[in-house]
Amino acid sequence: MRKNIVAGNWKMNKTFDEAEELISVIASEMERNKPKCEVILCPPSLYLEMATDYADESTILIGAQNVSNHENGAYTGEISAGMLSAIDVDYCIVGHSERRKYFGETDTLIAEKVSRLLDQDIRPIYCCGELLEERESETHFDVVRQQLKEGLFKLTADEFSNVVIAYEPVWAIGTGVTASSTQAQEMHEFIRNLVADAYNNEVAEETTILYGGSCNAKNAKELFENKDVDGGLIGGASLKADDFLKIAHSF
Ligand code: PEP
Repeated sequence: MRKNIVAGNWKMNKTFDEAEELISVIASEMERNKPKCEVILCPPSLYLEMATDYADESTILIGAQNVSNHENGAYTGEISAGMLSAIDVDYCIVGHSERRKYFGETDTLIAEKVSRLLDQDIRPIYCCGELLEERESETHFDVVRQQLKEGLFKLTADEFSNVVIAYEPVWAIGTGVTASSTQAQEMHEFIRNLVADAYNNEVAEETTILYGGSCNAKNAKELFENKDVDGGLIGGASLKADDFLKIAHSF
């Protein structure tokens, strides 16, 4: 179902105590003043169980940042979708550009992760987006089309209805350079049209498409006002309760 979402990707940041403090401040502030969107926190995996305990008492939802493409077995260091499900994780980011770049993740591997998650009723947040050189050479639409075709569009419409898409131009991630409102809307509309072609208009209208890349308390409102931008996947600005809550209150 299409909804407005603000999700915080904490990446590999925060000590356990800092993470607990951040969650508890966000939870108590949200109790006082509830944002008009769904709020998801994605802490490092070691903190997920603590986070889901907090989430039990609040309206916050919890997402993981990664999952294995295997169900179980001899995969040292990996965490399965079943393990995430057992501690009540709701969402999981997949295909983040940092995982594509530093861990060599391909669309095929990411598609396997999506399937493992859906098997466990965990909703994937599927990241896509082009590199700077791809935008400069005007191949950004082709790049995103290919990522979605290989990574998502083999799902049935029923399976796909549980997926959230995050458009994250790589040149905007952690750089302080945000896509303009026009650039974001243009790509989000393109993505929604691709979903309509792969499935149908109804599925496309029900798809949640988030923007990610240097989204902050100052620019969130303008980005979220676009008709095809349903919220944000927030990196740096999700590490401070005040900034993150301001973004969540941009709706
Ligand atoms: C991200 O890494 O998903 C992200 C959007 O990061 P930032 O907001 O820091 O650009």
